[in-house]
Amino acid sequence: MAPTGHAGRNKMKVIIIGAGVVGVTTAWYLTELGHEVTVVERLPGPAGEASYGNAGGICPSFAGPWAAPGMPLKALKWLFDDFPPLKIRPRLDLAQWRWLLSFLANCNPTSFAENKSSMQRIAHYSRHCLSELRLKTGIRFDEADKGVLQVFQTEEEAEGGRRSAKVLMELGIAHRFVETPEIMRLEPALKQADASFAGGLHLPEDGTGDSHLFTRALADLLIARGCRFHFNTAVTALERDGGKIARIRTRSDEARDSEMSADAFVLAAGAFAPSLLKPLGIDLPVYPVKGYSITAAISDDQAAPVSSVMDEHSKVMVTRLGNRLRAAGVAEIAGYDRALRPEARKGLIARVKTLFPDACDYEQIEFWCGFRPMTPGGPAKVGPTQFANLYLNAGHGSNGWTQSCGTARILADLMSGRRPDVEL
Ligand SMILES: Cc1cc2nc3c(=O)[nH]c(=O)nc-3n(C[C@H](O)[C@H](O)[C@H](O)COP(=O)(O)OP(=O)(O)OC[C@H]3O[C@@H](n4cnc5c(N)ncnc54)[C@H](O)[C@@H]3O)c2cc1C
Repeated sequence: MAPTGHAGRNKMKVIIIGAGVVGVTTAWYLTELGHEVTVVERLPGPAGEASYGNAGGICPSFAGPWAAPGMPLKALKWLFDDFPPLKIRPRLDLAQWRWLLSFLANCNPTSFAENKSSMQRIAHYSRHCLSELRLKTGIRFDEADKGVLQVFQTEEEAEGGRRSAKVLMELGIAHRFVETPEIMRLEPALKQADASFAGGLHLPEDGTGDSHLFTRALADLLIARGCRFHFNTAVTALERDGGKIARIRTRSDEARDSEMSADAFVLAAGAFAPSLLKPLGIDLPVYPVKGYSITAAISDDQAAPVSSVMDEHSKVMVTRLGNRLRAAGVAEIAGYDRALRPEARKGLIARVKTLFPDACDYEQIEFWCGFRPMTPGGPAKVGPTQFANLYLNAGHGSNGWTQSCGTARILADLMSGRRPDVEL
């Protein structure tokens, strides 16, 4: 299944907009197929946005849409929570309301099943692609293959876990519903938790890793192979010539305007993709769903998670990344507001402290927020557009680190006239 090392179509000059994990993995697979790739990124380095501080879960078993049949009711209940997993801050913004309505329209069993099955297929393929890439390159990113444990605090949550287990069984995905003694065996530090558990779902094939370290290391490998990166360079417009994109306009840090042309263009700008497409008449339904994370050095190894614990009660995921602990959660639907809200910091710390009270010094944390590039239905937008040489790879939502290698490889195959291993 490895790429053959030459382009099925003629070798192309490709410009990729965005050096997040999606843009850089796309650059990798296009380079593998023999194309000449340039990546344009407005920040000083790779993975400075959503790919920087995510929860670090490489979790195909979790891949699925947030737009699910019971979600509207859950969202209503969360209105009264102190630390709600989802918060909607209504704005005078048509894009927000259209996205929310479309999200609601997807909260039905049929759309959920279709979206889930598509995301599962891609996420598992992606895990396979990442394993191959690791073998081939020896890339290191505080990675581990020790599974993920989802823990439930209430009977209602555990019931949801049993339902998920049934779906996983139908999909043939390795999993185990576990009771408290087994939870403590898998994650001994939870013995110190100030919480009791009604059960857990263990996903032994899921893994963990730092997508920021990964993306940086992959970009270094690409640079060594001749791939060009233009950092501190924002793309300000895509200019069309009839049914094709002729060039991109850019602005550097020193406010120098320039232009670049190529045979093909890939938009991998995460949550920022819609604004570049709008002038071309393409309405991309991707909205920024803000999340937060904290990262701290682990001070007591025995008191920290062995791998990753997904706390279903708060929807906070706590992951060991080497000798650091990363915890991430919260979904705020509030546009591109970058405010680091103290209540989110307080809520995250409180939840992680409940589970792992002595794992680290919670006064010494890095607090971060980022935008999940979410489509209302769940699956990312990957593939061609109405412009013959413009392709999309954006909208990976809460599962983009997990899906990045898979969608990148599928897109690289499509662009090279090859049949992808997996249908989109
Ligand atoms: C709190 C949180 C927790 C998460 N946890 C997980 C997890 O555990 N597992 C998982 O799989 N996923 C997780 N995700 C999701 C994952 O982080 C994202 O889906 C993924 O990082 C998206 O990657 P991307 O490359 O598409 O976007 P980004 O990483 O946002 O990259 C887009 C890049 O495009 C650049 N760009 C934008 N506009 C322009 C322009 N005009 N010109 C030039 N460059 C531009 C940006 O600067 C940025 O570098 C989480 C996300 C959050 C926020």
